Amino acid sequence: MNQRKPIISEADLAFDREHLWHPYTSLSSPLPAYPVVAAEGVHLELADGRRLVDGMSSWWTAIHGYQHPRLIAAAAEQIGRMSHVMFGGITHEPAIGLGRELIQLTPPGLNKIFFCDSGSVAVEVAIKMAIQYGYAKGRKNKHRLLTIRSGYHGDTFTAMSVCDPVTGMHEIFREALPDQLFAPTPTTAFDAEWDPTDFEPMVALAHEHRDEIAAVILEPIVQGAGGMWFYHPEYLRRLRALCDESGLLLIFDEIATGFGRTGRMFAGEHAGISPDIMCVGKALTGGFMSLAATIANEDVAETISSAKDTDGVFMHGPTFMANPLACAVARESIRLLNDSPWQQRVATIEKQLSAGLEPCRAMPGVADVRVLGAIGVVEMEGPVNVAEWQKQFVARGVWIRPFGKLVYLMPPFIIDRHELSSLTNAINEVIGSMTAQGAG
Ligand code: PLP
Repeated sequence: MNQRKPIISEADLAFDREHLWHPYTSLSSPLPAYPVVAAEGVHLELADGRRLVDGMSSWWTAIHGYQHPRLIAAAAEQIGRMSHVMFGGITHEPAIGLGRELIQLTPPGLNKIFFCDSGSVAVEVAIKMAIQYGYAKGRKNKHRLLTIRSGYHGDTFTAMSVCDPVTGMHEIFREALPDQLFAPTPTTAFDAEWDPTDFEPMVALAHEHRDEIAAVILEPIVQGAGGMWFYHPEYLRRLRALCDESGLLLIFDEIATGFGRTGRMFAGEHAGISPDIMCVGKALTGGFMSLAATIANEDVAETISSAKDTDGVFMHGPTFMANPLACAVARESIRLLNDSPWQQRVATIEKQLSAGLEPCRAMPGVADVRVLGAIGVVEMEGPVNVAEWQKQFVARGVWIRPFGKLVYLMPPFIIDRHELSSLTNAINEVIGSMTAQGAG
């Protein structure tokens, strides 16, 4: 690893506790924040020299592991030339190159790209596209969204409005949010026998409210932060048909699931269908920096662009749109993924996660164990004490951050058998010891 590592003193940590907000934490009684001084491959290095095997890929992003030499080279080359220029009235080769790579990769029909800063913004952009599409067609009442419970789409306001009202972590804003429509969480598991009654509430809501709905938005197959639930592909096939017959746009939020995580390049491929609009982010840059994109089909783009009363203008344009540095890294990350045996790697991880987490199923306090692609989830019966569990994991040399009732793994695709065993063994041990102590 890099020899010139920063030193983090006690005073630095005290400053951090006093002044820096971390995600979803209190400033007055923050959860502990572990000082990390370097990251390489599948390891995070703590300030005290301990190296942890990373089970989180920094929230779905670091699919190639950390500090991949090809991503470093792409970033260095781009920094040497041009780190940023505005995208208004200017274009550049990293955006064009990344656009080409994305269109090769994305489901058929999706070929009009809007680059933006983060996943939440990509969701906002998708929703604005859907509303502006209705507007362009003269259907000005179509401004609501239909979604499913247990979803998570980000922390900005309209994204919050389509998160699960309870597990979406935004309950206190409910009164301030647009009122959206929620069908129940699909109950048929990914690999269970399809239960047609699962889809009936969605049909009823779509029919009842079709005149006010701009689009249906959901995370295809894998619901992430709203519950780490994997549902049946038939739900999406029926939803595609329902949207077509009811004149609703279909938006897939592939921000967490995109770029191979579920065993397919995009999770919607499990159902063999294309949405009208798709959001990508997170692993787009291989975890190097923030970048996202909202990708629409021809119909959406053409309809918005040919509307007379808006001069065909799509009303969005972030300052750092298509940042050249992020685009150059993202383009290289996609090439790296294409050059790697990622399907085989994800399939191997899936097999090992299934075997390694299976013993948890019989442990007291465990409600469910499920695995799809490079995602392994142990759902506990009740919420766990994050600080205490995390301490136990760090003591065992692994980085795993539970969330609510969920203890889960989504390691970098380059993880080897031995490293993956250290993650699954740690989960088995910590669940065993914490539930034995009654310290949920
Ligand atoms: N959509 C999904 C499915 C996500 O998992 C997330 C983040 O966890 C987001 C959107 C929001 O992305 P960001 O945190 O980059 O704004």
